[in-house]
Amino acid sequence: MVEIKTDAALELMREAGRVVANALAAVQAAAAPGVSLLELDQAARAVLDAAGARSPFLGYRPAFAPTAFPAVICASVNDAVVHGIPTTYRLRDGDLVSIDCGAELDGWNGDAAVSFTVGTPRPADLALIEATRRALEAGIAAATVGHRLGDVSHAIGTVAREGGYGMPADFGGHGIGRRMHEDPHLPNRGRPGRGLPLRPGLVLAIEPMLMAGGRDEYRTDPDGWTLRTTDGTRAAHIEHTVAVTEDGPRILTLP
Ligand code: MG
Ligand code: MG
Repeated sequence: MVEIKTDAALELMREAGRVVANALAAVQAAAAPGVSLLELDQAARAVLDAAGARSPFLGYRPAFAPTAFPAVICASVNDAVVHGIPTTYRLRDGDLVSIDCGAELDGWNGDAAVSFTVGTPRPADLALIEATRRALEAGIAAATVGHRLGDVSHAIGTVAREGGYGMPADFGGHGIGRRMHEDPHLPNRGRPGRGLPLRPGLVLAIEPMLMAGGRDEYRTDPDGWTLRTTDGTRAAHIEHTVAVTEDGPRILTLP
């Protein structure tokens, strides 16, 4: 069931989203060659704790997962696409890092992700990140009253395809509110003019995941969580929580 949020709820979601944005900023500021993924998780935890927010990631166990998620961020490095578990791995010069974070504040959730490079970037990684950012931007721009869900999907998928990038089949965005994952599912590819009509108060987590090799296949690590490209090429993942309003799309996960 798709829940339409009141203006008051959107204000509360904006505060949860601000915590997420601040946590991601803290993680990105801490990230450098030699810093471990567990240390990045600590940086995010400190922000959530200081804000009195709960992590919807910590202890999360969807049907596909063999274990409860042990951290407040997903940290996906290089060929990892999404759902990477923070480990003792220490970042190296030139790594491409995607960090996904959520926060629940006063019963409402925010969900966002950033991709960035550490140390000296590879030009191909910067192009991949830029394409992912443009795919998100196109998806957000399509999240307006009068459009349908398929218009958002189509906008994201078009940017990815034009860049020659792959996207993991089955994975995409989602509704969000009192729970981190709500209806509807938002595919990262689709046909314009199809699907759920977008109404004011609909809130979507829009999250393109692009893979440099151009293939859509992925594999899952033995940990049951981490998604990787099958060809070893790198991936990027950027996400915002976005409300459809009469005044246009409103990004809730900004600082
Ligand atoms: Mg997320
Ligand atoms: Mg999400």
